[in-house]
Order: sequence, then structure tokens, then C-alpha cells
Amino acid sequence: MPSSPAGSVLALSVTDLVKRYPSGTEALKGVSLEIADGEFFGLLGPNGAGKSTLIHCSTGLASPTSGSIEIFGHNAEGNYREAREAVGLAPQELNIDWFLTVEETLDFHGGYFGMNKKDRRERIDELLESFSLTEKRDERTRELSGGMKRRLILARALMHRPRLLILDEPTAGVDVELRLELWHYVKQANLEGTTILLTTHYLEEAEQLCSRIAFINGGEIVDQGSSAELAERFGVGSLEDAYLELVGRKELSRAHVGADPEAGQ
Ligand code: ADP
Repeated sequence: MPSSPAGSVLALSVTDLVKRYPSGTEALKGVSLEIADGEFFGLLGPNGAGKSTLIHCSTGLASPTSGSIEIFGHNAEGNYREAREAVGLAPQELNIDWFLTVEETLDFHGGYFGMNKKDRRERIDELLESFSLTEKRDERTRELSGGMKRRLILARALMHRPRLLILDEPTAGVDVELRLELWHYVKQANLEGTTILLTTHYLEEAEQLCSRIAFINGGEIVDQGSSAELAERFGVGSLEDAYLELVGRKELSRAHVGADPEAGQ
């Protein structure tokens, strides 16, 4: 069983992961990644880098071509059930059943993960309270505002008390207030001990929330470290500039804005 330096089991351990789709696209080309228990980890990369594929392989939605994934020591293929139970996934799309009520949405999810009725009821009360959804308990999900739907998706991901919460671009296309609100809930979950894997293309989001970040590009992890370490390694002043170096677009750097184009070229 892989261990973090402190000796505890890793939340996520990905080793030499390759994913080749039937179309022939090699979306992951031998990815290895370790996330320690309790970390807030960011996975950053441009569109098509392989972020969703890595998440899908980690949650059993896609099967790897080769390599392995362990979640809290459970092999994602061999010990599928245990591995799956340890993960909560908040997908980017609003994949809610519009005919269910808020309470039913959480209750069915808990039932799917084998929680008994009493436990489900207690957990639902707790989550509705912390996500400010108590008054919406009996409302059909289709009647919720956009912000409430996003909160419900997060609450549902946490319903079965996963130790690892995976967030696939949770704030794509949401307004500033909702983004800040979602950050608040996710930070709270992390403070309560949940390990977080966040994929995002908002660099500011990764910088503010994540203690460690991996850059993925073309199906490969190209670098990882804290935001400051990455900026230093790329020889630039910010995570954004490190990212622009990575994707080969350093001419877009805000550090150049207003600079004399003739100077220092
Ligand atoms: P990201 O989430 O970083 O945008 P993806 O994991 O979605 O990247 O995609 C990585 C690569 O795999 C892309 O080239 C994409 O077109 C391809 N891809 C993703 N899903 C499939 C699929 N189901 N079948 C074939 N190719 C896919």
C-alpha cells in the first residue's frame, strides 16, 4: 500500500496511467500523481489536456488502458466498490434528476451508497443546514436557482461522507458571488478533513485554494508543486505566467502589458 511521508495512506495514488480511447487518441500518456490525505490539490491544464479523462478513470467512469489508480489504498479496478465509496464527485454539468425533490436527491444518493435510513436522515439534515438548503427540502430540483443547484450537487457529492472529493471545474461559467460561495463550502469540507482534487482553468482559483498544483498538458504531468514553487521553476512572477509558459503563450503575460515592446526583447 503506498504511503505518504507521514506514513498515512495516500488519498490518491496514480501510477503510469495510460488511457487510449478506441478512436486512437492517447488522452493520458503515463501519468503518475500522488495526493496525500487532507490535501487541497489542483489539476490545471488547457482544454484537451486529459483532466476529465483522469477524473473519469479515478471514479470508474472510464477504464484505464494500463497503469493503476488507488484511492485510500483501494485499487480502483480490483476493489472498485471500496474505491468508489471513498470518492465524491461533483461534475461540471448539472446532472440532477429534475423530478426529484432536494431531499430525495440526497436520499437516493445515500441509498445507492448503502447508507441506512436513519443515517441518511441525519446526514441530510446536516447537509441541508450547512448548505443553506433546509427551506428547500421539499422543493423540486428544477425549481431551484442556479446557485442552489450547484450547492445541491456539492452536498450530494458529500452525502456518503467520501474521504476524497473530486470537483470537475465546479465554477465554470458561474458568476463571481457564486464562485466565492462555492469556494467557502469546499474550503469548509477540506477543513473538516476531506481531501480535495480540483480541476479548474481559473488560475486565480487554484492559487487561492490549492496547497499543491499539478500542470497537465498533452496527457502528461509536466510539473507540480505549490503555486510559488511553480512560478519560481518557470522563472516567472506568478502562477498565471508559469501556465502561459507551459502552454507556449508567454506573449500574453500581463507582466508585459504596458511594457515598451522594444525594451528587453
Ligand atoms: P480536458 O478535460 O483536460 O479538457 P479530456 O480528458 O476531456 O481533456 O480530453 C483529453 C483528450 O482525449 C482530448 O484529445 C479529447 O478529445 C480526447 N477524448 C476525451 N474523451 C474522449 C472520448 N470519449 N473518446 C475519444 N476521445 C476522447
